[in-house]
Amino acid sequence: MNTAPAAIDSADIVVVGAGILGLAVAWALGRALGPGGGRSVLVVDRHPPSTQATARAAALLTRARGDAATAALVRNTYAAIASLEQELEEDLGLRQVGTLHVAASTARVEALRALVAGSGDPAGWLDGEGAAQLAPCLSAEAVGRAAFMPMDGFIDPVRLADAYRRSARRAGVRIGAGLSVQSIRLERGRIAGLETDRGFIAAPVVVNAAGAWAAGLAWTAGVGLPQAPVRSQYWITEPRPDLFPRDLPVLVMPDAGAYARPELGALLFGLRGRRSLALDPALLPADTAGLDLGDSDGGLETLEDGWQALARLCPPLLQAGIAHYVSGLSTYTADGRFVLGPVAEVEGLFMATGCCGAGIAASGGIGRAVAAAVLGRPGAVDLAPFAPGRLGPVDPFSQALRAACAAARSGKTAG
Ligand SMILES: Cc1cc2nc3c(=O)[nH]c(=O)nc-3n(C[C@H](O)[C@H](O)[C@H](O)COP(=O)(O)OP(=O)(O)OC[C@H]3O[C@@H](n4cnc5c(N)ncnc54)[C@H](O)[C@@H]3O)c2cc1C
Repeated sequence: MNTAPAAIDSADIVVVGAGILGLAVAWALGRALGPGGGRSVLVVDRHPPSTQATARAAALLTRARGDAATAALVRNTYAAIASLEQELEEDLGLRQVGTLHVAASTARVEALRALVAGSGDPAGWLDGEGAAQLAPCLSAEAVGRAAFMPMDGFIDPVRLADAYRRSARRAGVRIGAGLSVQSIRLERGRIAGLETDRGFIAAPVVVNAAGAWAAGLAWTAGVGLPQAPVRSQYWITEPRPDLFPRDLPVLVMPDAGAYARPELGALLFGLRGRRSLALDPALLPADTAGLDLGDSDGGLETLEDGWQALARLCPPLLQAGIAHYVSGLSTYTADGRFVLGPVAEVEGLFMATGCCGAGIAASGGIGRAVAAAVLGRPGAVDLAPFAPGRLGPVDPFSQALRAACAAARSGKTAG
């Protein structure tokens, strides 16, 4: 890695977590400060960068969101991709195929109208025939109305995260891997630094971007985060370009609790399921590789449950075998909003977490907004709706919180 972890004993700003959110914050800090910008920035992780939730994402970058602040964060990610491509002089492989939001029922059409109007992006309305022309795997009869949003796309999440990392490195940000943070040390109510398996790192500012582990880490500073690690899962069919052309749009199908996108001639599809699996952050191992996130039910309970509704909208799924099952842990909050910005009770502690399954989509906006908050500068997006303490005192290990976070995922209707 770039820096020998043993040599790290202090920094002005330490970001915990080299997943896409930590790297996006580091990127934005690096850009705002510039090389030799007067404050040293260090990112630490116990694993290699982008090998946890980030590596497993379906990485839909859906722009239409239920609220204006989240939509603004996602728009900023598209701007970040353009800026990274310019800086690094390379194509990051954004597949701008558009999203087709599908409504099968009348009630859903009304909800879709509100979602589309709130996004401020152009959208074309289609009937079932029109939707099936654009996405031949859809059943014209099953689709009531659909809204096509051409500016949307998806991207390789590791590639995007690595672009944030490389840009941050150019700006002088240090990345230390193989270093596990054990706790946050406070002195007189403010951040003093981090206890790690390689010794103490003194730092007046810490950004907690520890993903599924963020709630456990925050608790070491006495802060209860309103989020829980929640399983997300998707399946990929065998390659069948005859059924699933490579240029299919992303499909968002809330009537079936499902989304889909093309994956090299196969179809990648996710089902939200009526019962999402939420874990106790206190019991989360440092390495989730061996964690059973679906093998015991094979993701099968969700698949069996949601299969028929999805196949009604997308009948070719009945002809294609399933080649892969992917599951992973992201985090959800009870109100479906991210957890971002300063922690009121602890000076110097900031959050970049609570991703609600949209951390890739919002990464650029989150990076810039959290970096602005850290540096005390005005940000492009007001972080008040995402304030870590907005839901009042929280027991991050309670069953009630886990149930609320799981329900937030099961009820999700946007991308
Ligand atoms: C199956 C699935 C599908 C998804 N699909 C989408 C999608 O379509 N669109 C979208 O936008 N998002 C999607 N997501 C969500 C997306 O993956 C997350 O929002 C995003 O990766 C969160 O990034 P992160 O940096 O917070 O977490 P992570 O990538 O998990 O990174 C956190 C890092 O913190 C490190 N860390 C934690 N604790 C410590 C510690 N104590 N010491 C040192 N290091 C520590 C970990 O090792 C890890 O590397 C999906 C997720 C899954 C699982």
